Amino acid sequence: MTSCSGEFTGLFSLLECRSHARRAVGTGSVNSSSDASLAYAYDPGSCCRIVLAVKSVWQYYAPVGDVLLLLDLFRRMVNDSIRIGLLNDASSLRKLSLLSYNQLSCYDSPGCYKLCAISRAAGILASRKKSLKRGFPTRTPYAVRPLLVSCYNFRVKNGGLEVPIARGKRLSISLTKHTLDVISQPGVKVRSFTLTQNKLCLCIALDVPMIECISTVGVDRNLRNLTVGNDQETRHYDLSETVRIASTTVHIARSFKRDDARTKAGIASKYGRRRTARTRHLLHNATKTIVALAVQRRTAIVLENIQGIRALYRKGNGQGRKYRGRMNGWSFGEAQRQIEYKARWVGLPVIRLSRRETRGSSVTCPRCGERLQSDKKLKRKLWCSKCRIMMDRDTVAAVNLSRRGRVRFARSRPPIIEAQGGAVEAMKGNPTPTVIHGVDAPKLTQPNKS
Ligand SMILES: [Zn+2]
Repeated sequence: MTSCSGEFTGLFSLLECRSHARRAVGTGSVNSSSDASLAYAYDPGSCCRIVLAVKSVWQYYAPVGDVLLLLDLFRRMVNDSIRIGLLNDASSLRKLSLLSYNQLSCYDSPGCYKLCAISRAAGILASRKKSLKRGFPTRTPYAVRPLLVSCYNFRVKNGGLEVPIARGKRLSISLTKHTLDVISQPGVKVRSFTLTQNKLCLCIALDVPMIECISTVGVDRNLRNLTVGNDQETRHYDLSETVRIASTTVHIARSFKRDDARTKAGIASKYGRRRTARTRHLLHNATKTIVALAVQRRTAIVLENIQGIRALYRKGNGQGRKYRGRMNGWSFGEAQRQIEYKARWVGLPVIRLSRRETRGSSVTCPRCGERLQSDKKLKRKLWCSKCRIMMDRDTVAAVNLSRRGRVRFARSRPPIIEAQGGAVEAMKGNPTPTVIHGVDAPKLTQPNKS
């Protein structure tokens, strides 16, 4: 869903750039950051980007008979297009629409829904193709849930969403105050709507100018906390409650003794949904504060790449069942998702480090670059034998991540002497105390843009 600012170069973006540059200059005098590599932030010539941010807002609604019929009609159209696509081995939208649009003419529905049904079927077929390519077993796809997605012919009018339900017939679904508040924010456009049996979801988009950042903060995701920080300060967001919720859920699901696979699955999914909702709520609180603080201090957020961490906690790896259960119940991806979309919505840059850049971020001394020593007795504290200080593991990780992100940040900018000259200087024993070997020095390879 990325759209670059190339098209938006107009008077508006020009004005935005001007005001950004002025703001950057204005705050430059009070900023305490002494890092030379960040000098570009004050460069009035740098142009700000405008990106498209997308998110959704949803509410419940009371369905009427007509809508339910339409949902089912849509589902059948999707299934028909899937069938046609499978027969002709077509998964691209273009090919599928040429093949199936005429065949859908037997359905008595507004034409716009036919297009959307084809598009939905194309999406399903494309993901099936992807799974096949990766070697995953797939079943013949079939849409089971009644659903309606459309990006055409709807309008928001008099506090309601008007959708066509038959030729020349429109239905108005009243929107809640929350939904109206969200979609009436300045600049917000409603792009599409999704109806299910009891929910209405609106996809909304906004063009946001990117914030010119002056520093970075690293976000270290742990089982029991989120640690956000850089050299200046670090903050811990306690998430130990999520671990407790997860273990309670396991206990509850286990307490039902009936030996029936279907009943068990039903109970597990019910309490699993509850657990997800509660965990998400806690994460939302934390990520909201993280993004708001980052905007206030104008710091880009740096995320580590811990993809594949589940592979560390598989059966046969020599860990206990309970430990594995706890580690596999950790919703680290959700925290990242929330931070990313919230940051995008306000125009805050997010830097995703590669796995290589992430490596060793929690065991390297941020002062001297030595490998830190851990001890069972010290729990989450680490000891640097060179600096002879004790450090908190999470703080170390957050500081390291913020630094590594800052290097990337500097590389993606037009060349500045201070930022480039680091490669030769960053060595152990360098007079500047905080330079880390191989971390603070910008690499000479082309950065992969985040
Ligand atoms: Zn050290």
